[in-house]
Amino acid sequence: MSPLTVQGPIPPTAANATWPNVLHTRVADVIAQMKPPPWSRRIIADERQLVTLIASPPGGGNRPHWHSDFDEWWVVLAGTLQWELTGGTTVRANKDDIVWVPRGTVHHIKNVGTDLSLRLAVAMPPAMHYFHPCAQCGFDDDGPRQWTA
Ligand SMILES: [Zn+2]
Repeated sequence: MSPLTVQGPIPPTAANATWPNVLHTRVADVIAQMKPPPWSRRIIADERQLVTLIASPPGGGNRPHWHSDFDEWWVVLAGTLQWELTGGTTVRANKDDIVWVPRGTVHHIKNVGTDLSLRLAVAMPPAMHYFHPCAQCGFDDDGPRQWTA
């Protein structure tokens, strides 16, 4: 990791050859390395942000959880995803949509479409996960054990 502050301007010497922290990420290149789903790949990581590309097959999704100290948001890059949130709110989002969830709210994310879903998740380190059954459907477990943003 780079120091929290630096003296600039400087060329981007902190960039990596592979993820995380590549100057230019082509999502298609990540997909080619990672298939088949489900998978997640950390794309950007520093002291203040954790950005993860997450692929779920139809019917797949995350382990429902909440965060105590940061709001989380996502950009849907492919497919149709549904967020089930504490209190009964449901958000259904498609490619190019942005979803934001405040700290303290359980989010249960499911691929409710018929194709692969891709979402870019933006969180903050250390991104502690407090796993909790889905407030709406009671679902309690699914998907990969790490980086299930
Ligand atoms: Zn989360």
